[in-house]
Amino acid sequence: MSSKHHHATDETLMRYAAGTLAAGPAIVVEAHLAGCPACRARIATYEAVGGALLEEIEPTQLSETAFNDVLAMIDAEEEPAQSPQSRKPVEIEGVRLPDALGGCDIGRWRWIGPGMRMSRVGVPHDPDANLILLKIAPGRALPDHGHAGTEFTYVVAGAFTDRFGTFRPGDMAEMDEDVEHQPVVDRDGDCICLAAMEGQMRFKGFIGRMLQPIFGI
Ligand SMILES: [Zn+2]
Repeated sequence: MSSKHHHATDETLMRYAAGTLAAGPAIVVEAHLAGCPACRARIATYEAVGGALLEEIEPTQLSETAFNDVLAMIDAEEEPAQSPQSRKPVEIEGVRLPDALGGCDIGRWRWIGPGMRMSRVGVPHDPDANLILLKIAPGRALPDHGHAGTEFTYVVAGAFTDRFGTFRPGDMAEMDEDVEHQPVVDRDGDCICLAAMEGQMRFKGFIGRMLQPIFGI
């Protein structure tokens, strides 16, 4: 019996390759890519197609500024961050976190509800990024929630199950605003997830919806 794996959607991988995904979701995708050769292969295809399209554009059709922007983007991609900080394993209270969080500021676990803790993740190159770590206790159901925007989740440790299946370490979930789902954490351990939303206000809405059924506000 093979275990089921959950991947990034085509749209998300294309946006990641094009550099148009917001910083938080891009880090969630990067965490998944590190352990998923299948999605890395799909990314390589999109990048090749994108490069071929770029080559077909006559340089004179691009304004000088735009052309320089493209060159700057290519330069930036060829220089991976190599600061000592980004090479140090990232962890929170002994739990190893994805390398994609290298250079990020990981806050302490904070109580947000019974069996639920949250750590805000600071992204140096985008202070407005909505990126959090969630630690949910075994057997606990997250409040049934819809979404104001697409929610990107990467499983760091443990597992949760919703009507789309079981999500294990390395799996990625994308839930758009039309999806109602109720994840339940498996009984054999805490589930730690990296979660990101697109858009600044939606983060408050998401937390608000999580807390609403608990506090009855
Ligand atoms: Zn994948």
